Amino acid sequence: MKHFVTIFIIFISSLSYAVEDQRVPGGIALIEVQRDSNPSFKGRKVLTINVQGRSVAVIGLALSIDPGIHTLETGSSKIKFEISPKQYPESRIYLENERKVNPTNLDLKRIKEESKQQREVLNNASGSLNQIELILPVKGRVSSQFGHRRFFNDQPRKPHSGTDIATAQGTPILAAGTGEVALVGDFFFNGKLVIIDHGEGLKTMYNHLSEIYVKQGELVRQGEYIGTVGSTGRSTGPHLHFGVILNGVSVDPKLLIPAIRDLSL
Ligand code: ZN
Repeated sequence: MKHFVTIFIIFISSLSYAVEDQRVPGGIALIEVQRDSNPSFKGRKVLTINVQGRSVAVIGLALSIDPGIHTLETGSSKIKFEISPKQYPESRIYLENERKVNPTNLDLKRIKEESKQQREVLNNASGSLNQIELILPVKGRVSSQFGHRRFFNDQPRKPHSGTDIATAQGTPILAAGTGEVALVGDFFFNGKLVIIDHGEGLKTMYNHLSEIYVKQGELVRQGEYIGTVGSTGRSTGPHLHFGVILNGVSVDPKLLIPAIRDLSL
């Protein structure tokens, strides 16, 4: 038994190099599963990776999830695990363009259509995983962290679903990983955006771009230029809003890209 525990610790520490296990809302749970057991969480397929011959489920935990005991379903068993509470800081943003805070009825129609389009893309979990190791899409200063409870002009809005990296307008943005461009658009809130599908439900999202260099359906390699930093959509200045999605939910990008932690605030 002692021997087993030692091996397990080594295995977890080598794994955490690529993905950090943090069982909180907006975090990720890493759970060992039987090979080919097709794990699912809340009815959605969960990505699995191979680590030293073991199969590990990489479960995205929504910011809206209730702390407590939750269940990972696999073909042969149900695995229970606990999610701890996490209180994210509050952030207050002031926008001159009141329409981006209180959109008109016509805007609301557009927002609804765009969020439906986005949701469909984010929920798709087909294709095989290209890679779990992601790279930093752009260097800069983290101007707003993931999970912040946000108030626009003192009105409560959805929590921050990505990491904002502020840098000069026109700075080239790299694809964080290899995959297929699943969505390109110019959205009311997200501005010019690109979503890359890396397979098995892992996606990365790039918002507020000034220019987009890729087309929907195109295959991009990790490190390839996909566009440039801008301030389109609901934005107060040039920055990249970078999001990472697992099984349909946004997770903290720094759990997959440790380099984000090194960017100064
Ligand atoms: Zn953002």
